[in-house]
Amino acid sequence: MMWLVAAGLGVAAHASPIAQTKGDFVDKFRQLEGEDWPTPTDYRNAAGAPGHRYWQQKVDYRITARLDEPSRTISGSETITYHNNSPDQLRYLWLLLDQNYKRDHIAQRAETVSPGGQISMTEVRQAMRYKEWEGGFNNLKVTDASGRPLKFTVVDTLLRIDLASPLNSGAATTVKIEFTLPMPEARVVGGRSGYECFTKADQDGNCIFLAAQWFPRAAVYSDYEGWHNKAFVGSGEFTLEFGDYDVSITVPSDHVVSATGVLANPEILTAAQRARLAQARTAKEPVYIVTPAEALAAEKGKPSGTKTWRFTASNVRDFAFASSRKFVWDAMGVKQNDPQVPLVMAMSFYPKEARPLWDAYSTKAIAHTIDVYGEFAFTYPYPTAQSINGPVGGMEYPMMTFNGPRPVKDKKTGQLTYTERAKYGLIGVVIHEIGHSWFPMIVNSDERQWTWMDEGLNSFLEFEAERRWDPKFPRARGEPRDIVEYMVSRDQVPLMTNSESVLQFGNNGYAKPATALVILRETILGRELFDFAFKEYARRWRFKRPTPYDFFRTMEEASGVDLDWFWRGWFYSTDHVDISLDKVVKARLDTRNPEVEKAWGRDKAKAEPTPLTIARNTQVPVIDRDPATRDFYDETDRFTVTAKDRKDYDGLKKKLEPEEAAVLGFKDNFYHFSFRNIGGLVMPVILKLDYEDGSSETIRIPAEVWRYNARAVTWQHVTPKVLKAAEVDPLWETADADRSNNAYPRRIEPAVLKLRDDPTGDNRMADSELEVTPDSTKTRPIKKDEKKDEKKDEK
Ligand SMILES: [Zn+2]
Repeated sequence: MMWLVAAGLGVAAHASPIAQTKGDFVDKFRQLEGEDWPTPTDYRNAAGAPGHRYWQQKVDYRITARLDEPSRTISGSETITYHNNSPDQLRYLWLLLDQNYKRDHIAQRAETVSPGGQISMTEVRQAMRYKEWEGGFNNLKVTDASGRPLKFTVVDTLLRIDLASPLNSGAATTVKIEFTLPMPEARVVGGRSGYECFTKADQDGNCIFLAAQWFPRAAVYSDYEGWHNKAFVGSGEFTLEFGDYDVSITVPSDHVVSATGVLANPEILTAAQRARLAQARTAKEPVYIVTPAEALAAEKGKPSGTKTWRFTASNVRDFAFASSRKFVWDAMGVKQNDPQVPLVMAMSFYPKEARPLWDAYSTKAIAHTIDVYGEFAFTYPYPTAQSINGPVGGMEYPMMTFNGPRPVKDKKTGQLTYTERAKYGLIGVVIHEIGHSWFPMIVNSDERQWTWMDEGLNSFLEFEAERRWDPKFPRARGEPRDIVEYMVSRDQVPLMTNSESVLQFGNNGYAKPATALVILRETILGRELFDFAFKEYARRWRFKRPTPYDFFRTMEEASGVDLDWFWRGWFYSTDHVDISLDKVVKARLDTRNPEVEKAWGRDKAKAEPTPLTIARNTQVPVIDRDPATRDFYDETDRFTVTAKDRKDYDGLKKKLEPEEAAVLGFKDNFYHFSFRNIGGLVMPVILKLDYEDGSSETIRIPAEVWRYNARAVTWQHVTPKVLKAAEVDPLWETADADRSNNAYPRRIEPAVLKLRDDPTGDNRMADSELEVTPDSTKTRPIKKDEKKDEKKDEK
């Protein structure tokens, strides 16, 4: 496991044989290759691509599951076929039991609270629930293919199965596991799955079930970490192996089930529903497969037993499902640019409580995501892409996403409205969660180690997709100016920090990496180079498992630009961008002509203020000197051109070669700009120059300007024009944290001072409904009736 923390000014904290032991020089351009990055192997090469011996495991699942609605429990039986494609022999398999709802799990025992006197209603309900309820996997039974029990050990959220005989490289083995899983009530105990019941007085009493992390799944065995053995503590999500799934789910007969993959027994639907599905394939607008009226009827009815829905999915890394009799279901076919890929069915499932917001936006947002992400990365390779409304705010699984926003219904009046936040929140979360299909569902990075690898890359593309949905889209993860407040905050860690140790999770895992990529695209590489390299990364690691170093290496190797300084600054440190333009000097060449230079010196001296000691003596009587003694030195000054000066100059002119004479005649201005790097993060200096003649130009000084001194540099610009003003980062593209030091000359900043109320103390006497009279400090109750009477009298 690589564990790097940047200390201070970007020097890795691990013991390095190379150290700057004199002075305070900081090399922000030091190459990461060979020191901080792992040595390339045959499995992942120096270019950042899968190596010529790249391998990964394949794990196939056949599962039968039953959802018991009254007890809200899943009972299941799975057959796992584990294909060992690694070069190693395996004596045991590790599986994941990623449900952190058991009281003795590390996540529960390591839970912390913020000190102070506050607790939310939900937190109290959660504490109450854990007294009576416990989640996690129960009744585990593990056997081999022929039913012989296999020894197993549970270590927190991990399960080790000891194989009867070692599994050789290239061989496969089968294990069978039976289990039961009580589902959590998502709105009470939280989490990325669970149920929600509509049991309030004005509700229909039915529930929505969202099942995820619901069966024991194989842990990852990789070329760089062996068995991945970090328990699920709560923040670091899931990393899994690709495989094929065949899953049969038995639910109450009136439920509608949505799941990873495609429905393998469509005859479970009515003829009308199947006809609507066929119609939806070519429809321009979403078509109801289960209409709102049908869902309403199901809510009021009762199940007549159970039905089994069967789904199959190829080459996916997980399997989730959703089930409810409340579901309205709409669908629309999405055609992609590539004729090789099949039509995608974009589908949404939601209760009446989510209408009309979901009918209007959910499925269309899926289609939009497929368009934009397809352009930036690769075409969507799966047959379905689904968005399900329930109690989970936003979570992704292969072909499945759980999304939360709903309209608001006033309890008393029944008035139905939705907020701007709910509208854009829904479109944004659907784009984000469907976007996870690319990162990490297909470009299979390790979420348990690195949050930024999926959330950061995905938030970047979400931002691009939102910008294309509507230029005024209100969400802002990605816009450089919006990251400033976080970048200057104290309690933060570098992006290269394990998911469980991340502070300010949303800003660190999502916003900062998204913004870094926006800046890399718009400011550092330009769109053409960035898009080529980003697409190459996505292409290389599609259905494979990249590490951070594969991403860094690919972006450099494919763009042809050294970016080690950029990774160091944005991913390995907590520096921020703040470049100050401290000083501008306008210089011209020395002409060596005494007539010119001495006159210039005299003008400069004259421009200086007269010393006070002379100026204030104008009122004081001075000795009237004898005019007869005035001499040469009274008539001339130190700027007077002498005969020797002229002779020297004539001599010089005769000796000059023509090109030297041309140099002396060069009339352009030499401007010297002094920049100071206050934030520590080295970045290009984007400098806008406004000239006296009304023209202006913007010069993009590369980050390498900081290579000899990362704190302060002076940079020269030669022009015949006369400079009037200059500004660093005029378009606000680098997340410069303090803009007040960007303009030269400095500007006066406008601000508004709000009046604050003068503080008044508590009045316990008035609060106790007592009063005094002008004649006594003895209190007496306020005579309310009397007061009212007085008012009446006034009228
Ligand atoms: Zn996400």
